[in-house]
Amino acid sequence: MSGRLSGKVAIVTGGARGIGAAVAYKLGLEGAKVVIADVHEEAGKWREGWLRSNGVDAFFIKTDVSIESDVKNMVNETVKRFGGVDILINNAGIGFSGKSIFEQTLDEWNRVISINLTGVWLCSKYAGQEMAKRGGGVIVNIASTRAFQSEPNTEPYSASKGGIVALTHSLAISLSKYKIRVVSVAPGWIDTSEWQYPPRKPSLNPLDHAQHPAGRVGNPMDVANLIAFLVSDEASWITGVNFTIDGGMTVKMIYMDPD
Ligand code: NAD
Repeated sequence: MSGRLSGKVAIVTGGARGIGAAVAYKLGLEGAKVVIADVHEEAGKWREGWLRSNGVDAFFIKTDVSIESDVKNMVNETVKRFGGVDILINNAGIGFSGKSIFEQTLDEWNRVISINLTGVWLCSKYAGQEMAKRGGGVIVNIASTRAFQSEPNTEPYSASKGGIVALTHSLAISLSKYKIRVVSVAPGWIDTSEWQYPPRKPSLNPLDHAQHPAGRVGNPMDVANLIAFLVSDEASWITGVNFTIDGGMTVKMIYMDPD
C-alpha cells in the first residue's frame, strides 16, 4: 500500500488485539510493513492473516516484551525479514486487578512493572539500535491517563504508566543525536471489543459515553489515527512530549451542585 509511511518498517508490540491491532492496521494502510509482536500466539497468527487479507504486509513474532531474549529475537527477525526498523510502537501492556495496597504482592507489582515499563525500555534499546543504523526513527510509547489521574488500588499500573511518560522524556533526549524521535500517547477509556480475538460487540451503556465531554468512549482507531500522524514526517519536529487522547475526560471539572 502507498501512503505517508510507504517503505517504512514498524513493530507493534501487543499488536494481536485491542489498540495495538488497530495501530498495526492503520500503519499498514499508510504503507508500512508491520510486525506484530505479541505473547498470545493464537491471536497473533490470526491477526497476521487478518491484516494480510486486508492488504497489509504483516507477520507475527511470538514475543514476551519482558524477556530480553524474546525482544532481541523480535528485532533480529524484523531485520531479517524486512531489512531494518523505522518505527516502534510500545503498546503491550497488562492491567491490574484492583487489590488494596495491603494485599498487593511483590510478584504482582514486579509482573506489571516488567511488562508495562521494563518492556518499553528493552524494546526501545534493541529497536533503537537498528533505527540508529538506518539514520533515524520514531518510538511511540503507550502510557495512559492513569499516569496523571488515579482511583484507589491501581498502584502498579499507575506507576508503570507514569514511568513511561518519564522514560519517554529521557529516551527523547538520549536518542535525539541518532535522529530518533520518542513520544508517548496516553489514552483514556478505549472500548477494544471489536478488536479482540475473536471480535466482540461493544456492550457499554449510555452513561459510560455521556461521562465524556466528547460524548462517547474512545475506540482503538481514534488512537491509531493519532499515532499514524506522530510517526509520519508531518510530525518531524515533535519529540519528548505526551499526547493525551481521552475525549476531554482528564480536564473535565467535577462540579458538585451546592443545592
Ligand atoms: P488488550 O489486552 O486488548 O491488548 C494488549 C495486547 O498485549 C494483547 O494482545 C496481549 O496478548 C499483549 N500482551 C500482554 N502482555 C504482553 C507481553 N508480556 N508481551 C507481548 N505482548 C503482550 O489491551 P488494550 O486495551 O488494547 O491496551 C493496549 C495498551 O494501551 C496497554 O499498554 C494499555 O495499558 C494501554 N491503555 C489501554 C486503555 C484502554 O482503555 N483500553 C486505556 C489507556 C491505556
